[in-house]
Amino acid sequence: MIDIFAKHAALRAAYDGLTAVSPRNPFEVVIERPLSATVGLIEGRETLLFGTNNYLGLSQSGHAAEAAIETARTMGVGTTGSRIANGTFGLHRKLEERLASFFGRKHCMVFSTGYQANLGTISALVNKDDVLLLDADSHASIYDGAKLSGAQVIRFRHNDPVDLEKRLARLSDHPGAKLIIAEGIYSMTGNVAPLDKFVEIKKRHGAYLMADEAHSFGVLGENGRGVAELQGCEDGIDFVVGTFSKSLGTVGGYCVTDHDGVDLMRLCSRPYMFTASLPPEIIAATLAALDDMVAHPELRTRLQDNAARLHAGLKAAGLQTGEHVSPVVAVTLETVPQAVGFWNALLENGVYVNLSLPPATPDNRPLLRCSVMAAHSPEEIDQATAVFKQVAEHFRD
Ligand code: PMP
Repeated sequence: MIDIFAKHAALRAAYDGLTAVSPRNPFEVVIERPLSATVGLIEGRETLLFGTNNYLGLSQSGHAAEAAIETARTMGVGTTGSRIANGTFGLHRKLEERLASFFGRKHCMVFSTGYQANLGTISALVNKDDVLLLDADSHASIYDGAKLSGAQVIRFRHNDPVDLEKRLARLSDHPGAKLIIAEGIYSMTGNVAPLDKFVEIKKRHGAYLMADEAHSFGVLGENGRGVAELQGCEDGIDFVVGTFSKSLGTVGGYCVTDHDGVDLMRLCSRPYMFTASLPPEIIAATLAALDDMVAHPELRTRLQDNAARLHAGLKAAGLQTGEHVSPVVAVTLETVPQAVGFWNALLENGVYVNLSLPPATPDNRPLLRCSVMAAHSPEEIDQATAVFKQVAEHFRD
């Protein structure tokens, strides 16, 4: 009999190598209980959370929790079906209308996760006759959506408008539709995309542009509409995709657009059609969190201040961080054993960040990925950077 797991041999070797040198499994850190938005109980210790993506702290919104409890009591806890067959509630429509209005767009489709929003949008928009131009550092959900679509995939250099334009120019005789996809803030590095430049390029070459604002929704732009709002180029973005799982603290994804053709996307997007729709209590919590976000623009200001403080603190500690000041701050290290040791020492000293390892990282180098929140106090940020500094000194010795 052929060993069905034989294909995992290389993964098994890498995993065994990692767990042999790490006192704990970096892929299964258990937050026993969040004590607040910024502190969680890990291994029985109160630990500062700097790896949650909970940018506005809204996973702990009392308003959202109350809305979820009330809705679960009155409507139950699930829809038990897909939007197309038997799972559309009035609340789905309400959330879609609310998001369309928030983004100033004609249409919105919500999905059960942000991952599915990318899969479902990309696979419904393009097929084997079309071309996708993807930023090389795109999230896995964008690559998976590309695979599901069957479209030809061309990668352009990360955040590089010149490279994108060169590749588009070579496609001038291609008969298919061309869809460029970029993110707003990149999840691993915190880099911000030049969406305004991509808009100019797409117009010159008759292409469409989709932006995944998963990490920038609620975070950037005067109203929290993301990088496109910040750069004043929303009109040029054909499709904006994002998630509720970061700044809104719940779960689910969306696509907003002004293109009327999306009405039929509901009938050909498999990740939308063949899965259960968002449960009512999650929709209620998401709507309440969106209200919180709109009512408290100062959360965004505080988040930016905190991002600048963390970025400056880590730089001053002699660590290698990215150039962009954003709520994702990645510290780049040279080797995997060094990163594993560093990450364990941080956790043992009460600071939780994400250990990101190649091949999931750009340039095949390990990262200690930190994400900061509006809810962090300046003291918590200073404490985290002090721990980083102390651990870095130990690793330099
Ligand atoms: N897009 C990007 C850029 C992401 O970083 C993520 C999640 N890390 C997703 C999409 C998927 O979102 P979700 O976790 O809500 O499914």
